[in-house]
Amino acid sequence: MFASLPDKPDHPALEHEILAWWEADRIFERLRDQNRGRPKWSFMDGPITANNAMGVHHIWGRTYKDVFQRYKALRGYDQRYQNGFDSQGLWVEVEVEKSLGLGSKREIEEYGLAEFAARCKERVAHYAAVITDQSKRLGMWMDWANSYLTFSDTNIEYIWRFLKAVHARGWLYKGHRSTQWCPRCGTSLSQHEQTGDDKYEELTHPSLYVRFPLLERDRESLVVWTTTPWTLPANVAAAVRPDADYVLTPEGEWWAKELKGERVAVETKRGADLVGWRYRGPFDDLPAMDSIEHRVIPWEDVSLDEGTGVVHIAPGAGTEDFELSRIHGLPVLVPVDESGRFLPEFGFAGLTTEEARDPIIAALRERDLLVEAGEITHRYPICWRCGTPLIFRVVDDWFISAQEIRQPMMDANATVEWTPSFYSKRMDDWLRNMGDWNISRKRYFGLPLPFYPCECGMLNVVGSRAELEERATAGLEQLHELHRPWIDAVPISCESCAKEVRRIPEVGDAWLDAGIVPFSTLGWENPQWVEHGYANGASTGISGADLPDHAYWEEWFPADWVSESREQIRLWFYSQCFMALTLVGQSPYRAVLAYERVRDETGREMHKSWGNAIEANEALERMGADVIRFLYCEQIPSQNVNFGYGPADEVKRRLLRFWNSVKFFVDYANIVEFEPGSAPAGDLQTLDRWLLARTEQLVAEMADAYERFWAPDLIRSFELFVDDLSNWYIRRSRRRFWNGDLAALWTLWTALVRSVQVIAPVMPFLAEHVWRVLRADDSPASVFLDGWPEPGDRDDALISEVAAVRRVVELGRQARSTSGLKLRQPLRRMVVQGAGPAESHANEIGDELRVKDVEFGLVDAMEVRVKPNLPVLGPKLGKELGPVRAALAAGDFEQLAGGGIRVNGHELGANEVLVERTAREGWALAEEDGVTVALSTELDEELVLEGRVLDLIHRVNTMRKDAGLELTDRITLTLPESEADLLQHEEWIKDEVLAVEVCLERVIEPQIAKA
Ligand SMILES: [Zn+2]
Ligand SMILES: [Zn+2]
Repeated sequence: MFASLPDKPDHPALEHEILAWWEADRIFERLRDQNRGRPKWSFMDGPITANNAMGVHHIWGRTYKDVFQRYKALRGYDQRYQNGFDSQGLWVEVEVEKSLGLGSKREIEEYGLAEFAARCKERVAHYAAVITDQSKRLGMWMDWANSYLTFSDTNIEYIWRFLKAVHARGWLYKGHRSTQWCPRCGTSLSQHEQTGDDKYEELTHPSLYVRFPLLERDRESLVVWTTTPWTLPANVAAAVRPDADYVLTPEGEWWAKELKGERVAVETKRGADLVGWRYRGPFDDLPAMDSIEHRVIPWEDVSLDEGTGVVHIAPGAGTEDFELSRIHGLPVLVPVDESGRFLPEFGFAGLTTEEARDPIIAALRERDLLVEAGEITHRYPICWRCGTPLIFRVVDDWFISAQEIRQPMMDANATVEWTPSFYSKRMDDWLRNMGDWNISRKRYFGLPLPFYPCECGMLNVVGSRAELEERATAGLEQLHELHRPWIDAVPISCESCAKEVRRIPEVGDAWLDAGIVPFSTLGWENPQWVEHGYANGASTGISGADLPDHAYWEEWFPADWVSESREQIRLWFYSQCFMALTLVGQSPYRAVLAYERVRDETGREMHKSWGNAIEANEALERMGADVIRFLYCEQIPSQNVNFGYGPADEVKRRLLRFWNSVKFFVDYANIVEFEPGSAPAGDLQTLDRWLLARTEQLVAEMADAYERFWAPDLIRSFELFVDDLSNWYIRRSRRRFWNGDLAALWTLWTALVRSVQVIAPVMPFLAEHVWRVLRADDSPASVFLDGWPEPGDRDDALISEVAAVRRVVELGRQARSTSGLKLRQPLRRMVVQGAGPAESHANEIGDELRVKDVEFGLVDAMEVRVKPNLPVLGPKLGKELGPVRAALAAGDFEQLAGGGIRVNGHELGANEVLVERTAREGWALAEEDGVTVALSTELDEELVLEGRVLDLIHRVNTMRKDAGLELTDRITLTLPESEADLLQHEEWIKDEVLAVEVCLERVIEPQIAKA
C-alpha cells in the first residue's frame, strides 16, 4: 500500500520532515560516498558576505547552485560542495561600527583595533552560522562544516603571494590620484566598487554663480558655476574653452556666448584670448592661498551645455581638475582631511563639506562675489557601503597596473561559456575599459597589504608568513593572526639596506579576498595536505576546512562552473580572472551562469524602509523552499524577477496539478493493492505507450536543459509533461483506473516516478516526499541516491500523433465555445483539416469531444472573405485597386499556399490582404497554425437526449462526492418520473455512476442512496 496523500501539500511542514529525515539517515553523506572517486565536476562557490542574514535576493543564486550540483550528483559526479563566506573588508567594518555606535575612524582607534577586530570576527562567525541555517532550510546541500572564510591566514598568505608576483612583474605602484572618497568610511573607493546605478542618488545641492574679479581688467569678472561650494577655498584656476566665444555683459561679467546669448554682449572674445588672464580668488585671505596665483587656463572639454562656460578648477578636489594640474603645473590643494573636515589653513576649520556650505555662501555674499544662489537636484555618487555622498580627494593609493593583463584576460574570456551568452560581451566591455586596480583601503579589518617601503627606495613585498617570520625584527610573539593591529607590530629588515621598515597601514580591497579562492582553497603549489590547514588565523574554530595539496588543485582547477549575479562581472568574475591569469595564465572557470536582480512582485526594488522587503526566513516558512526554488528557476536569468506572495501562490497552484496526479494514482492503486515493479502487469495500450514515450522525452529534455544551465526550460518541460499526464493520459484513462487496470496503473506509476527523478534538483523536498511514497521496495530510500534515469526506447511518431490529437481536441473545444454549445452536448459530425498524424486517433477525438463522426479532409464549412490591406495595397496598385477590391468583394479570387491571394491577374502577399474566415450556417470553426476544425452544430432528438443523460451523470457524480461516498461505493438512483425517457440509456447511466438500480418516483430532483 502507498501512504495516502492529503488534498494539498503543506510545503513548509513537509520540508521540515524531509530535512529531519535527510539528516537522520545521512542521505547527503551517502550520496557523496556513492559518487566519491568517480569523474569530477568542479563548482567553485563565490563567497557570500557573512555580514547579515540572507535576503530573498540571495536565494536566487543559491537555488541555482544547489539545482545544478544536485543534477550533477544524480549524474554520478564527484563534487567538492565547499561553501564560502566573505569575511573581512569595508562591509563588515561598517556594520560593526553601526552596532557599536562608532561614527568615525578616530572612534574606532579609540575603541582599539584589537577589540574592533574581535567584534568583526564575532559578527562574521554569527552570520556565517545564520546563513548556514538558512541555506540548509532552502535545501542547499553543502559541506557546511568546511566552509571557507576569506579572513583565514591561509587566504591572506595566498594574496600576499599574488601581490609579490605582481610586484615582480613591475605592475605594482603607488599612485597619487584624485579618487572618489567616502568621508564617513575615510577611504577611497575603486572603479569596480562604484559602478552601477544603485551607487547614485538624486541629491539636492547648491547651485552657485560666483564672480572671480580679473586683476588686469577693471570692474570685470569671470563668472563660474559650481555645485560644490566646499571646493572654492581650494580654487587655483579657471578653465575656458579655447575655441568658444565669450561675451562681456554690461554688468562686467564674462560668460560663454552660447550660455549667455549675444544680445547682451558689450565685447566678444575667443576663449583662447582669455587664457593667461589673472584673477582674484574668492578666498585669497586664507593662509593656504599664500603665493597662489590664479589664472585662466585652456581646456577643450569645458561644457557649453550648462553653467557659464568658465569652470572653476580645484585640483585637490576633482578628478579632471587634478589631471589639468599635471598639464598646467597647478598647485594641488586638498582642503579637507580624510573625514571630509576642513583643514585649518583653508578656513572653516573642523566643518564638514556639508556644514561649510552656508558659511561659504555667506562669505561669498559678503564679499559681493555671489551672482546668484539656487539649488540643483542631480544624480550624485554615494558610497556603495554606507550611502554617504562621496567627495573627491587627492591621495596616495596602491594600484596594480591592468595594462599587460588586459589582453590575456580578454583572450581567456573568449574561452568561457557564458549563460546568458551576451554576458560574455559585458565582461569584454568591462575588461576593455577597466582602469588600474586600486587595491588599497585606508581601513582596519581587512587583508593587510604586505608592503614595507624603505627610505632607501626599496619596496619590500612579503610573500608569505614564513618570509615575514624570517625577516621580522620584532613583534612575532604577539602575532596570533595576520590582521591589524598585530601585523603592524612586526617590522622587518629591508632587503636592500637592512634598515628596519614598517608596513604601510592600508588594508586590501575585499575582491582580492574572493578572487584568490580558486588557489587558496584548492591548495595551489602547496607541497603537503594540511588537515584544517585553511581554517587558521581568524577562522580558527569557525571552520574545519583543510588546505589541500597541489595535486588536488590540479584535479579541481579550473572550475567547470560558477554562478553569481551579473554585477559580479566587474567584481568576483573579474578579480578571480585577473588573479588566475596572473598566476597561471588560464581562466579560473569554464562556464558561468549569471542572473539579474530580485524585485518585489510589482517590479519595484525591495527596501526595508518601503515596507516591501521580504525576509528570507519568513519567505521560506510561508511559501516553502520548493515554491521559491521553482519560482526562481522559471525566471529568465537576464531579466529581473518579481518576487512575492502573489507569484508564490501561483506556483503553489500549479504544483497542485502534479500533486493531484500523484494522489489520483495512490488512491486507485491502493484500491487494487497495486505493487510497483519493473515490468508492466497486463497488456499496454497505445495511450500507455504514448505516456511512456512522453516520459522518455521529458527525461531527455530535462537533461538537455540542465546541461545548458537553463532553468526556465526545466520548468517549461516539466509543466508541459504534467499537463499531458493529467489532462490527457489520466483524463482519457479514467475508466481503466476505475476498473483497476494494472497496465494503466503501472504506466502511470512509471511516469510519475521518472518525472519525480528529473524534477528533484529543482524541488527536492516535494520530489523526495513523492519518491518515498511511490518508490518500489528494492529501490534506494532517497530519490537522490537512485541516479539519473537511464534512457529507454522512445516512439517519436506516437508522440507527434498524440500532440496533433491534443491540438485538434483543443481546437474542437474552442469551436464549441464559439458556438455556445456546452461540452457535454454530443454532436453528430466534425471535419479536421491539416492534422494528418492524428487521423488514426479519430475515435479518441470523437470520444473526447463527444462527436459521433470525425472525418479528416477538406473543411468546406468555411467562408473566406478577403479585403485589401489599403495602406499597403493602395500605393502598390494605384488605379488597379478599384477592380481588385470589387473582385475580392465578389469572392472572385483564388487562395494560394502561404496565405496569399490571386485576384484579377495579381498575386497578393499575405500581408497585403486581410483575410477573415467565418463558419457557414450550422458549423462552428476554429483554426490555428494550419489546422482547422469544423463542428456541425445541428442537434437532433437523439443528441439532445444523450446530452441530458450526460448532464445527469455529471450531477449524480457530484452528489456522490458531496455525500462523501468512497470511489467504490455502489448506489441506488431515484429519478423524477418526468425524466423517464432517460431510461432508454439505463445501462450507460448505471455504469457511470456505479448504480445497482435506477427507479422512477414522484420526486422533484434525482436522489441517491448508498446501496
Ligand atoms: Zn562609506
Ligand atoms: Zn632600505
